[in-house]
Amino acid sequence: MKKILRGHHLLCTHGFKGMGYSPEFVEVMTEIVEDIRNEEADFPIQVVQGFDYACQACPHRGKTECIKSPDSNEHVLSMDGKVISHLGLSPGETYMKSDLVQRTAENVSPEDLEYLCEGCSWLEYGVCKNGIQELREKHLLK
Ligand code: SF4
Repeated sequence: MKKILRGHHLLCTHGFKGMGYSPEFVEVMTEIVEDIRNEEADFPIQVVQGFDYACQACPHRGKTECIKSPDSNEHVLSMDGKVISHLGLSPGETYMKSDLVQRTAENVSPEDLEYLCEGCSWLEYGVCKNGIQELREKHLLK
């Protein structure tokens, strides 16, 4: 079944360690992450710059935009845009999960998160950089 993921969540799924904005959000994100990391599963993903399935469970979801803070919507949209552009994707287009994971492994280094995820409160924990490093080791050393 096709999934919808916003651009910056294409990165979050590799380092996610169960932290999140609410138990409901963590539960939904855990489901998504398990599907993304399941090497036996491949499925289409529509990449968007805006709300996705994970956002539906977020306590900071407003009617039409993220309301975590006055500038949060602009911030998450800008991270979506940076990731979409960095991976050579087009917003609204659909790709196979395997393609998106391979593009991420080939094109994103842990250091790139300093730019792509600038301003994200989870960046300082280091789990996201570790997740990208592990992804690269798994996919690029095959
Ligand atoms: S730093 Fe933030 S946006 Fe970047 S991968 Fe981690 S949680 Fe996602």
